[in-house]
Amino acid sequence: MHQIEEFVDERQKSWCIHCARSLAGLGTNDDHVPSKSLLSKPRPHHLPIVTICKECNTSFSRDEQYVVTFLSCVVSGSSAPEQQSNASAARALTVSPRLRALIERSRTEYTTMGGETRILWKPDAERMNRVVVKNARGHAYFEWGEPMLNAPIEVWAIPLESMSFEQRSDFEGAGEGPGLAVWPEVGSRMMSRLVAGADLLDGWVIVQPGIYRYSVDTSGGLRVRTVLWEYLATEVLWES
Ligand SMILES: [Zn+2]
Repeated sequence: MHQIEEFVDERQKSWCIHCARSLAGLGTNDDHVPSKSLLSKPRPHHLPIVTICKECNTSFSRDEQYVVTFLSCVVSGSSAPEQQSNASAARALTVSPRLRALIERSRTEYTTMGGETRILWKPDAERMNRVVVKNARGHAYFEWGEPMLNAPIEVWAIPLESMSFEQRSDFEGAGEGPGLAVWPEVGSRMMSRLVAGADLLDGWVIVQPGIYRYSVDTSGGLRVRTVLWEYLATEVLWES
């Protein structure tokens, strides 16, 4: 992923993009977009960084640990630390028997009529959605140079393989079509990408191949889609 310089108005950087509070006088942290824990090592250089308030940062860290660990268990089909390919998930399962038990409880096995054993996992949807919205806010902010301070009107996360053919082609077709419904601000990353064609594949920005991609488009609002580990599809929509 190449770094694209952004020239967005500095004034927009004085609030926490998540809770909308002024950062003046608050403890702050630098946070990567997307969350570093969702990526694999070696992580790409030049991930965008946004300064957010410490309180938001702390609460996201807990949710992110859950989401990464949960996803890793789903993808590996097990909550055993030694089965995980994601290092931070393996560590979390080792040091926190409570987290492992929580994830283990969300797993059910069933046998198909053909005699096959299948596993179902039920995520904590609230925690999952908080992480999804957090990253979407970061992408919206960096691509459009605009903090989305209001609540989104739609948030979802489902495995790619659970989508119907129509859902999947609609989802993957992000950024295609006759052109952008709304033009991004000059100087925003989105404009720079459109001009330079950097990191874009069919409208998706590839942060790390096979691990994380996202798209931002404006059809019927500001829509941020991500695909995590080529497994989980997410979408967040804000009214325009
Ligand atoms: Zn905050």
